[in-house]
This record gives sequence, structure tokens and C-alpha cells, in this order.
Amino acid sequence: MLSIKNLEVGYGKIQVLHGISIDVPKGKVVTLIGSNGAGKTTTMRAVSGMIKPTAGSITLQGKRVDGLESYTIAKLGLAHSPEGRRVFATMSVTDNLTLGAFPRLTGSRPKGDVAGDLERAMELFPRLKERRNQLAGTLSGGEQQMLAMARAVMLNPEIVLLDEPSMGLAPILVEEVFRIIASLKARGVTMLLVEQFAAAALQVADYGYVLENGRISVHGEAERLRDDPAVKAAYLGGG
Ligand code: ATP
Repeated sequence: MLSIKNLEVGYGKIQVLHGISIDVPKGKVVTLIGSNGAGKTTTMRAVSGMIKPTAGSITLQGKRVDGLESYTIAKLGLAHSPEGRRVFATMSVTDNLTLGAFPRLTGSRPKGDVAGDLERAMELFPRLKERRNQLAGTLSGGEQQMLAMARAVMLNPEIVLLDEPSMGLAPILVEEVFRIIASLKARGVTMLLVEQFAAAALQVADYGYVLENGRISVHGEAERLRDDPAVKAAYLGGG
């Protein structure tokens, strides 16, 4: 589905990613874990076209997408739920979700049933359903984060990039986010997940990559990484 090969990305003179390769097969959940500043967000931003790589390639369903604009990549079916709460504050919850479907209406992919998908998104995120007419800017931080995730789902995407969907959430909402990720997985949605809760991410994921200082240090089946002593010590609280 998504194939990243020897990717190099930097900001000005500072190189952040030093030739990383990641594969996300169709229908699988792949997680990228690593310490603060390792380059996880940078990887996501490069894949969705927000920053241009300096070397390497990014292929989505066999088509090179590195160098393409974000909107073009979204039209090809890649949804990005970015770190932080990027919602349209002065628009309602429903309007934010409807906008999420916009790239698919203008692209060459099947347009599908936007109204039906809106209802399904509301079912998946009951908190948003209760607040469907509320302005997004007046939602709590956690609710805004859910809205960003739900908006990504509204693209009816081939693949979703989820960057720290649980960041800053109360424990009960963290659980809800992971429940939602698991239900998306059960629906067959392909995902690349960056998460601070590495243990929970490796529970829901099929495969994992560890990013250290812009290089992949270890990768493997999620189950194997959960048992890897070095991964445990560094990212799973030593347990
Ligand atoms: P975190 O878990 O803290 O979000 P991360 O693994 O997502 O970390 P990135 O946000 O990708 O890390 O950042 C990787 C490195 O790139 C960091 O050293 C960061 O300071 C640097 N960086 C990120 N964005 C920029 C920018 N716009 N300009 C310059 N340097 C940047």
C-alpha cells in the first residue's frame, strides 16, 4: 500500500531522517515508535506532502507521491490526522467532517456515500455525534483530537496516518482512541500510527518500526517487538 524507501528529510541544513525505509501493507496497522525528536512527525509530514524529501522515494499503491502536493496525495486516498488539534474552529462538527470528504469528491476515486459515511463516523465517535452542531473551536481538546481523527476517516481513505492521536488526553479518552483504532482496523483500514503509548500501539499494530535519531534501529512483528528486551527497556517502561 505505502512504501517508503531510503527517505531523507531535513529542515534547512539540519538533516532529520537519514535514509529510512518503511512498508505498510494493505489492511495492516504499522506503528512507528521512538523518543521525542526522533523524526516521527517529520516522517508523517513527508508522506502526506507537507514537506519535500531531499532523497528517497514514497510510493502509494504503486504510484510515486514524493514531491506531490498534499491535496493531490489526499485525492489519491491518503488521510493525515496531524499532531495537535487541527480543526476548523469556526465551523460546526458536522461541517468539519463533511470537509474531510472533500478531496474524494474532486479526485478520481469513487465518490461513495458521503452522507452515509457521516452517519458511520458519528457512530464510531459518539462524543462527536452528541456535539454535531457545536462549533469545533468550543470542543474540549480531547474532542477536537477525535474530530481530527474522524475527519481523516471521512476521506474514506486507502490509508490513514495517525500522529499521536492520544496526545494530552485523559486516560479514559486514550482508551477510547485505541478502541476506535481497533474498530478501524477491524474494518480493514490501513494505518500508520505514531504513538507515545508504545505498548498500546504495539498491541493494536501488526508490525512496528523503532526510529532513533532519524534511523530505523529495529523493526519486526509487533508481537516480537513487545518481547524485545531493548525495546522494552527503552520504550515500554522497562516492563
Ligand atoms: P515528538 O515525539 O517529540 O513529537 P518526533 O519524533 O515526532 O518527536 P519530529 O517532530 O519529527 O520528531 O522532529 C525531529 C527533529 O526535527 C527535531 O529535532 C525537531 O526539533 C526538528 N524539527 C521539526 N520541525 C522542524 C522545523 N520546522 N524546523 C526545524 N527543525 C525542525
